[in-house]
Amino acid sequence: MRSLLPIALLALAPLAARADAPKRPPNIVYIMADDHAAHAISAYGSKINKTPNIDRLAKDGMRFANCFVTNSICTPSRAAILTGKYAHVNGVPVFNRFDGSQPTLAKYLQTAGYHTGMIGKWHLGSDPTGFDVWNILPGQGVYHNPQFIDMGTKKKYDGYCTDIITDLSLDFLKKRPKDKPFFLMCHHKAPHRPWDPDEKHAKQFENVKVPEPATFDDDYATRSDAAREATMRIDRDLTLRDLKIKPPEDLAGAMLKRWNYQRYMRDYLACVASIDDNIGRLLDSLDKEGLAENTIVIYTSDQGFFLGDHNWYDKRFMYEESLRMPFLIRWPGTVKPGSVQDGMILNVDFAPTLLAAAGRDVPADMQGKNFLPLLRGEKPKDWRTSMYYRYYHYPQHHKVQPHYGVRTDRYKLIYFNKINQWELFDLQKDPRELKNLYADPMHADTVKQLKEELFRLKKELKDDDRFEKETPKDDV
Ligand code: CA
Repeated sequence: MRSLLPIALLALAPLAARADAPKRPPNIVYIMADDHAAHAISAYGSKINKTPNIDRLAKDGMRFANCFVTNSICTPSRAAILTGKYAHVNGVPVFNRFDGSQPTLAKYLQTAGYHTGMIGKWHLGSDPTGFDVWNILPGQGVYHNPQFIDMGTKKKYDGYCTDIITDLSLDFLKKRPKDKPFFLMCHHKAPHRPWDPDEKHAKQFENVKVPEPATFDDDYATRSDAAREATMRIDRDLTLRDLKIKPPEDLAGAMLKRWNYQRYMRDYLACVASIDDNIGRLLDSLDKEGLAENTIVIYTSDQGFFLGDHNWYDKRFMYEESLRMPFLIRWPGTVKPGSVQDGMILNVDFAPTLLAAAGRDVPADMQGKNFLPLLRGEKPKDWRTSMYYRYYHYPQHHKVQPHYGVRTDRYKLIYFNKINQWELFDLQKDPRELKNLYADPMHADTVKQLKEELFRLKKELKDDDRFEKETPKDDV
């Protein structure tokens, strides 16, 4: 018994503080939207809207040009962010219930002395663990007069979801114990489908003609069957609930497609405008309370989204618009204002990086990398040059074939494993991914090298196909 005691104590002990740990750890405000594509943020060069408040984080901090999701769908991305691990390790490949007994970023920070809070969209099936305060939407939640679950108790709030999540976040900041650093996850529902705007922004884009994306008329000519099979097309698959208004009866074909796109984007961008206003409110409050100086503020989204690109809405595919996450971070004294980092980071990196930022050691079983050096403007010589992706959810809700793949700085190789079809894109020559080069003999060597890299990463990350036969559960 005597010999077992030290081991038991060691297992329970918080991660050791690093020797170079800051005397006063930074507070962390982690703001995450749901389905907010980087190309609908002006700091990322949006051609369709302006986000002046989100842009404040780019101006005062760093914009990551290459932040990618490891499985482009809501619930799995959230589990990967909390655990620093891929879906096949954290047990959430689709809409599985998250096992809250496993270690998470929130638990590690709580153990390290942080006051922790989770406000807004959670969507992990189980109650949050590792949070001193939590108030979450049940499942997807609704935009207007939403119900929340406040530490296990159902409560209904009057008003608009994005405003309420901000109010509750400000309340968390106000009531926090002042002698502790804090970690707040502020998770917006918006701009997730069905894109219900609030009254203030509903008409903002009414008379605006939103520019169409360059790939709006993609015919998927050289692609695998997966692209043709997917049911998330602007011209065909938006429902009356999505559109809110019945299309004029005389519209058909290309005209109907264009009408649908405008209707979809006007609501989506109005939902984003409300988020932007609320980010402004939150940042103003941090300024007013004198907290901005020692607080890391992050703005991201659980994945990207198709905004009419390739004639699609939704996400799931490993294509750029869906794979890329916005990631803006402000950290006075550490991150250079107005800087841009092109080093590749992933959602599984957030947990190890925030633990390192708090001055804690990174647990050895986390699969993500600590990108603290990148925040300081450095890029280590051995920093990753490729990333592994895997998507499982089929056939719900949009018949996107399961696939896995590798993306490097230059190329992307995707394997649709259930139908045994491949795609190769040269992102330098074809950034819009319109030309599948897999069968091109000129690229045979590239395919060979990328396959080696894909299976090397798959092995390194211990993906043994354990969820290949997963029967996806319906969303809640
Ligand atoms: Ca999402």
